[in-house]
Amino acid sequence: MRVLLIEDEPALREQLVSQLHAEGFAVDSTGSGVEGVYLGSEYPIDVAIVDLGLPDISGTEVIRQWREADRSFPVLILTARGRWEDKVSGLEIGADDYLVKPFHTEELIARLRALVRRSAGWAESKLRCGPIILDTAAKSASVENVPVEITAFEYKVLEHLMLHTGRVVSKTELSEHLYEDEADRDSNVLEVIVGRLRKKLDPDRDTHPIETVRGQGYRFRFQRTGEEN
Ligand code: CA
Repeated sequence: MRVLLIEDEPALREQLVSQLHAEGFAVDSTGSGVEGVYLGSEYPIDVAIVDLGLPDISGTEVIRQWREADRSFPVLILTARGRWEDKVSGLEIGADDYLVKPFHTEELIARLRALVRRSAGWAESKLRCGPIILDTAAKSASVENVPVEITAFEYKVLEHLMLHTGRVVSKTELSEHLYEDEADRDSNVLEVIVGRLRKKLDPDRDTHPIETVRGQGYRFRFQRTGEEN
């Protein structure tokens, strides 16, 4: 999951970047609204965090420019305490959620995950596709209700494929959403991870949950199942 953070207080920005990294997000960050507009327009962002009080152009203006350019990823705004008018104008211009400073990072992260999930059309934190369930809160997976041990990186790959189940996901898309640095992207690593996931999710090789679409990428084969608990 790739997040764009626009926050002009360096200490807060650095702290959030390191906490988001620790939670497994790929992170692009800047303290400038103008640069933020650019990053959100050019990079494959899953979700953005936008501080409304920025030194060059306002966070509201950043969001307005994205929405005008049809950039529809979800946006969470950060506002200073007592500036409720900012919050309202941010939501009116197309932000999806907000947090008032100071906030707990755990809450920020839970909201980011929920925003990405909902924007992919999932109402619940458990993604259910055929026999496979991915619990995005516990970060765990199960097949036929039997827990499957997966690593943090395997989880990230599986989460992206399941969020977009039924659609072909190219290796480029997958790596762009998992790594912010181009230098870290290695399609051989992705192939190994997908191979491991296949063994874990389908040890008898009969359900084939992750299909290879020749020349295009991977597709999670199972459709979503009912979202009842
Ligand atoms: Ca600020």
